[in-house]
Amino acid sequence: SKVPPIILNNGVEMPQLGFGVWQIPDDEAEQAVTTALEAGYRSVDTAAVYGNEKGTGKALGASGIAREDLFVTTKLWNNDQGYDSTLRAFDTSLAKLGLDYVDLYLIHWPMPAKDKYVDTYKAFEKLLADGRVKSIGVSNFFPEHLDRLIEATSVIPAVNQIELHPHLQQLASREYHAEQGIATEAWSPLGQGKGLLEVPAIVAIAQKHGRTPAQIVLRWHIQLGNVVIPKSVTPSRIKENIEVFDFSLDTEDIAAISALNEDRRIGLDPATVN
Ligand code: NAD
Repeated sequence: SKVPPIILNNGVEMPQLGFGVWQIPDDEAEQAVTTALEAGYRSVDTAAVYGNEKGTGKALGASGIAREDLFVTTKLWNNDQGYDSTLRAFDTSLAKLGLDYVDLYLIHWPMPAKDKYVDTYKAFEKLLADGRVKSIGVSNFFPEHLDRLIEATSVIPAVNQIELHPHLQQLASREYHAEQGIATEAWSPLGQGKGLLEVPAIVAIAQKHGRTPAQIVLRWHIQLGNVVIPKSVTPSRIKENIEVFDFSLDTEDIAAISALNEDRRIGLDPATVN
């Protein structure tokens, strides 16, 4: 495969780079995911709330790629948190995807004020025990949410998927994840393409390596050890974004990009999503 795996804390292999499908309408998802699979992607990141599990599933089913060679992530939406509602929502996602298991199931947001993520995660543990998901994890959790979850449940999350890019480097979360053996997965790894890809330091490193700014940012994530899930609907960009395993950034490049941290979010603040 083009994309090397990382080993999750349960021994499962996860491709370090996958295809994100947020904001791709259901009727365009089949084409976009098909293009990604043809380019060599084997991991796809969707969510119930994206409304494109059907289109994503169609592409997976039509691809002819063996199920065990695919890695499919979906996420439980906020209003389905709670034990029984989680089990029902999972059935719905699985049916839409047309699969009999998913590789990774994530709690989309902690919603701390609702305080349901422990019960929700207990349903995840049941799905794991029943073999309907191969790994379970969370998204947008702060270390304090993970502390509470780990204290109250038995399975340490395999993954925490958080907003992470050169302008928001999440040092505290990354350190906490490393201590706990939780893989850090970066959402909006390209900063949604807004401005980040024109930052002079990144453009200069791109010129030095004969690569694009997007490839430089993705390579920075890879060398940090992050899982990345860049999104695009443009075939040339879909292809470009996976071509990041045949070159390396040197120490100075990494340092120059790491110096761009501004602790600045583009997306929502997990503390206030409820
Ligand atoms: P991203 O950082 O992947 O940026 C995508 C945008 O960057 C594209 O729409 C395009 O405008 C631009 N782009 C992509 N490739 C490019 C290239 N090669 N050259 C120039 N511009 C390029 O942003 P994203 O879609 O927000 O994040 C990726 C994935 O992360 C999502 O699709 C989704 O799967 C996941 N995500 C998860 C959460 C969560 O709460 N868990 C939130 C947001 C996103």
